[in-house]
Amino acid sequence: MKEKKGVTYDVDLTADDLKELAGQFKAEYKGKIGSDFPDDPKEQLMGAIKAVFRSWDNPRANVYRRDNDIPYSWGTAVNVQSMAFGNMGDDCGTGVAFTRDPATGERKLMGEFLVNAQGEDVVAGVRTPMPIAKMEQEFPEAFKEFTDVCKKLEDHYRDMQDMEFTVENKKLYMLQTRNGKRTAQAALKIACDLVDEGMRTEEEAVAMIEPRNLDTLLHPQFDATALKAATPVGKGLGASPGAACGKIVFSAEDAVEWHDRGEKVVLVRLETSPEDITGMKASQGILTVRGGMTSHAAVVARGMGTCCVSGCGDIAMDEENKKFTLAGKEYHEGDFISIDGSTGNIYDGEIATVDATIAGEFGRIMAWADKFRVLKVRTNADTPADAKKARELGAEGIGLCRTEHMFFEEDRIAAFREMICADTVEEREAALDKILPYQQGDFEKLYEALEGCPVTIRFLDPPLHEFVPTDEEDIEKLANAQNKSVDEIKTLIDSLHEFNPMMGHRGCRLAVTYPEIAKMQTKAVIRAAINVQKAHADWTVKPEIMIPLICDIKELKNVKKVVVETADAEIAAAGVKLDYEVGTMIEIPRAALTADEIASEADFFCFGTNDLTQMTFGFSRDDSGKFLDAYYDAKIFENDPFAKLDQTGVGKLMETAIKLGKPVNDKLHVGICGEHGGDPSSVEFCHKIGLDYVSCSPFRVPIARLAAAQAAINN
Ligand code: PEP
Ligand code: MG
Repeated sequence: MKEKKGVTYDVDLTADDLKELAGQFKAEYKGKIGSDFPDDPKEQLMGAIKAVFRSWDNPRANVYRRDNDIPYSWGTAVNVQSMAFGNMGDDCGTGVAFTRDPATGERKLMGEFLVNAQGEDVVAGVRTPMPIAKMEQEFPEAFKEFTDVCKKLEDHYRDMQDMEFTVENKKLYMLQTRNGKRTAQAALKIACDLVDEGMRTEEEAVAMIEPRNLDTLLHPQFDATALKAATPVGKGLGASPGAACGKIVFSAEDAVEWHDRGEKVVLVRLETSPEDITGMKASQGILTVRGGMTSHAAVVARGMGTCCVSGCGDIAMDEENKKFTLAGKEYHEGDFISIDGSTGNIYDGEIATVDATIAGEFGRIMAWADKFRVLKVRTNADTPADAKKARELGAEGIGLCRTEHMFFEEDRIAAFREMICADTVEEREAALDKILPYQQGDFEKLYEALEGCPVTIRFLDPPLHEFVPTDEEDIEKLANAQNKSVDEIKTLIDSLHEFNPMMGHRGCRLAVTYPEIAKMQTKAVIRAAINVQKAHADWTVKPEIMIPLICDIKELKNVKKVVVETADAEIAAAGVKLDYEVGTMIEIPRAALTADEIASEADFFCFGTNDLTQMTFGFSRDDSGKFLDAYYDAKIFENDPFAKLDQTGVGKLMETAIKLGKPVNDKLHVGICGEHGGDPSSVEFCHKIGLDYVSCSPFRVPIARLAAAQAAINN
C-alpha cells in the first residue's frame, strides 16, 4: 500500500487506505482459515494468546532453548495488558532503552526513541530512531519520569535493565523490563561496578556471570559489523569456539605447506584423524563433515584452542578432487571460507576477525570465584604449550594427559609404527626404546610447566590401527625400517582392522596384551619425575599414573603390577624417594558398578565421561551427531549427552561409583576428565556429588572455575 501510494511511513497512509488494507487482510485470513476473521474482541484476544503459546514449539524457539539450556518442560506464560498508543500524534512516541551499555557495560542510559510510532516501527528498522537523549528535548517531563523509573528498576532488580516504553499524549507508560542481554565483557564490568556501587556482594557478582559466555573473551571473534553483513551458508556443531577465516585446504599436508608460505587456511575434512594433527595446528580453523562434539577433531581442536565446526552433513565432499558443494555452490582449494566455532555457522568468503581482549574485570571476577569454589580445576593437556596456557588460565593441575597425542609428530610416529608392527617382544622393545626418550622429555616439560602441581598421565588408550600408515610412501618407509616387504606390512595392517574399534583392542587391553608398552611408559613417567624433583627441591612431584578403560578389578591388578614393579625398580635404581599413585579411569559402566572392588586397588578414580556416555547410551561418540537432530525434533532428547552430562543415567553411575568406592578407600580422590568437565551444568553436578576436581581443555578452565564457584554459591 505504501508503495502504491508512494509514501514511506505507515502514518502517511489515510484512513481509507487502512480500511482497504484491513479488507485485504480479512480476505487473506478467510482464504487460509476458511472462516471470517472474528469480530468478537474476546475471541480475537484468545486467538492471540493461543498464537503465543503455539510459538513455544517453533523451530527457532527449540534451538534457542537448546543453546541456552532452558528445559522444554518449563513452558511459557502470556501477559495481557491494555494498550498504550505511541502513534496518536506528535505528542506520542515509543522507545527501547538499557540502563547500561550492553556492549561495554558502561554506566549510561542507552537506547532509541521514535516520535509518533509503535514499538514495531523501532524494531523493524523502517524509520531511523533517534538516540534516547533526544527524547529529553521532545518530551522533557516524560523523559525525567523515565530516568527516575530506570533508577527505581535498577535498584529493585540490582541489575542492568532492558526496557520498552510508550509515550501517549505526553504520558509515560512502561511496557516491560527485564535483565538485559549483554556481551561477556559488559557482563564482567557490570558485575564489578554493581559491587563497587554497593548493590551486589562479591558472591552475587560471581553468580551473575554466564560461564559459557567467557569463551568469547578467550578466542578471536568475527568483526561485529562484518558479521552483520554476512549470511550463513551452512551449519555444523560449534565444536571449538572462536572465529576463523582462511583459504580452503583439503589435507593436513597442504595445510602445513600453505601455512609455511604465509597463507591463512581452514582445513576441511570428512573427519580428522591423529595423522592430521600438524595440519590442524597450522590451520586457523577446522571444518568437518562428520563427527560430534567429542569426535577427534572437536576434542583436539578444543585442546589447541583452535576454532572448529564439526559434523556439517550438508557438505557434499569430494576430497579426491579437492572440492565440495555446500548450499548449491562448489568450493575449491584456495577459496575463502569463514567459520564460527561458537555457533557452528559457516560463511562464504572472508569475514575479518579481531583478537579478543581480556578486560581488567575478568581477573577480579575470577579471583572472587576462586574464593568461593570447592572443586579444584585441572586441565586436559598433552603438550607443554597447552599446559602453560592452562596454567595462565588458572589450572591447578593436569587431570588428563592423553599420551597417544605425543606420538603424532613425524619422527615419533615412525618409531611408534615400528612398535605396532613388531613381530616379537624383542622387536617391540627395541621400538619402544626409541620412543622412551621422547616421552620422558615431554613428561619433564609437563612437570616443569605445572610447577609442582599434580599431573595425571594416562597410559596409551586408542586402538593401534589409528596409527598405522595409510599412504604407500609411509607403508614403504615402514617396510624398510622393519626389513619386511610392503605386502607383509599391508597384511599386518589388515590384521589390525576391527569392526568396532572403540570397543576393540584399546585402553588397558593394550597393556594386558603388550605389557612392555606400560613398562616403557612407567619408566618415562618415573624418570621424568625424578629429574624434575631433583631440579626443584621445593616442589612435590608426585606422578599420578592413570590406566584407561578398566572394566574389572583383575585387569587393573594385572596392569598395576607391571607399573608398580617397573616404577619401584626405577626409584630404587636412582636411589631417591619418590611417591607416585596408580589410579584408573571410570569410563565403562561395569567399572562404576564394581567400584567397591576397583577402589581397593586404585589411588584415584577419574570419570571418562566421553566413553562412559558412549557405553551407557550405546551411542557412538563419533557418529551420534547423525541422528541426534531427529531426537531433538521428536522431543526424545533436549541436549547432546556428549556435551551436557546426562545426570539421570551416566550421573547415576558416577554417584554409584563414588558411594561404592569411598568407603573402601578413604584416600580415594575423584575427578572427571571427559569433555563434560568444562560444561557448566555438568560442573555443578560434579560439585553436588562430591568430586574433588574437574579437568577440561585449557580454554575452558576459566569457565569451569566460574561454574564451580556458582555451584558452591547456589548449593
Ligand atoms: C573419556 O572417555 O571421557 C576420556 C577422557 O578419554 P578419551 O576421550 O581419550 O577416550
Ligand atoms: Mg576414554
